[in-house]
Amino acid sequence: MPAIARHIQQIKDTLPSGVRLVAVSKTHPASLVQEAYEAGQRIFGESRPQELTQKAAHLPSDIEWHFIGHLQTNKVKQVVGLARLIHAVDSERLLLEIEKEAAKRALHVACLLQVHIAAEEAKFGFSPDELHHLFAQIFFSKTPHVQLAGLMGMATNTDDHKQVSREFRGLKHLFDQIKQTYFAGEASFCELSMGMSGDYRLAIDEGSTLVRIGTAIFGER
Ligand SMILES: *Cc1c(COP(=O)(O)O)cnc(C)c1O
Repeated sequence: MPAIARHIQQIKDTLPSGVRLVAVSKTHPASLVQEAYEAGQRIFGESRPQELTQKAAHLPSDIEWHFIGHLQTNKVKQVVGLARLIHAVDSERLLLEIEKEAAKRALHVACLLQVHIAAEEAKFGFSPDELHHLFAQIFFSKTPHVQLAGLMGMATNTDDHKQVSREFRGLKHLFDQIKQTYFAGEASFCELSMGMSGDYRLAIDEGSTLVRIGTAIFGER
């Protein structure tokens, strides 16, 4: 079996039912995506709008593309309508821009809100307080074309497994709180995107539903 197919199989064998694999293909050529596709993989994650657009144009149309990276507001047009799920929505400004573009095209765009959970300097993502504040001020009544599907986060890049697990557990707790408070009885708020090549096993133990794995499938970038 070719390496990519073998890696995908090995990862899938460890995923509990209900956890989906996003194969992160950023920087890798379309030929490797095709190889993963032929091994049965259908969900792929990209983090640059232009790369996503180019790959999508050349690869099978039943691929489910996810946009996993930081999305700049001026690139929203390239991603809306192409990505089935936007994982890392990290500001009100971006939410409003996605709303504007989705409304223009009469689409509903599934999005996850990125939460900053790592001990490292906050670059992107809402703090838990900011997130509660967004919901409390009924912000999402302004974004009817954004379908909030859950939360996403990245743990600290460290060998300290206890710390990583604690951060994932915190995100799961926040997810449960928000789901109970604002989405009670609604099935649509259901995704918790956490876990990468180095920490996805820990993330699954803490309740991840989407793992974003690149290196462990395609090798080093
Ligand atoms: C690149 C990337 C990944 C994949 O990371 P690996 O360590 O290669 O598995 C996951 N999530 C995000 C947001 C990324 O940018």
